[in-house]
Amino acid sequence: MSEGSSRAGRVVFLGPPGAGKGTQGNRLASFWGVPHVASGDLLRRILQNREGSALAAAIRVIDKGSLVPDETVGQVVFEALDLPGAQRGFVLDGYPRSVDQARDLERYLSERRRPLQVVIGLRIGEAALIARLSGRLTCPNCGASYHVMKDPPQTAGVCDQCGNVLAVREDDQPGPIRTRLMLYHQKTEPLLSFYRERGMLREVDAEGDEAKVFERVLASSGGLEKSLIY
Ligand SMILES: [Zn+2]
Repeated sequence: MSEGSSRAGRVVFLGPPGAGKGTQGNRLASFWGVPHVASGDLLRRILQNREGSALAAAIRVIDKGSLVPDETVGQVVFEALDLPGAQRGFVLDGYPRSVDQARDLERYLSERRRPLQVVIGLRIGEAALIARLSGRLTCPNCGASYHVMKDPPQTAGVCDQCGNVLAVREDDQPGPIRTRLMLYHQKTEPLLSFYRERGMLREVDAEGDEAKVFERVLASSGGLEKSLIY
């Protein structure tokens, strides 16, 4: 249920895979009544709906835990940010993943005179991360995610939202998990300094339960209304 708050903004979530970007991003977006633009979900939807297309072929590399080419992922994300629903604000997660992508995003948003306002950096220790990632179940149909221990579905192996059978995503298997963490350290961590230098970064402790983390997320994006023109 959206609270339709007028305090919406343009926000990016950063953090290693498993830090809870999707969950927290989704909560903040519903709280504000703006779209949650999750690049991973957008890319997976294209794989399902436009199979055989050149775009799908360029995206296929994520199955191996690698990064999709900048130009491809940019095209997909910017299409979503151009939609009328995203004009009031948006919560972006999974993009940007590198300094190059951050520059692409900065260019795109400044051309539209809608610069980013806040970047929320979720902080979590490696051990907690691996524990979260290795129990994750995802719904191939609607994208909902669960955890075998911490957030199990009501019926084992079945999605609460749509009734589809849940699966362990290929990139949540142990090998790809290590690849994703390595890529994060190499390519995405430098983004923290990129946004810190621009005064946009607010770091949030992402360990502990989901509701507590969300309180911290809200508190760290709480000053936003002052900088808003809406
Ligand atoms: Zn589902």
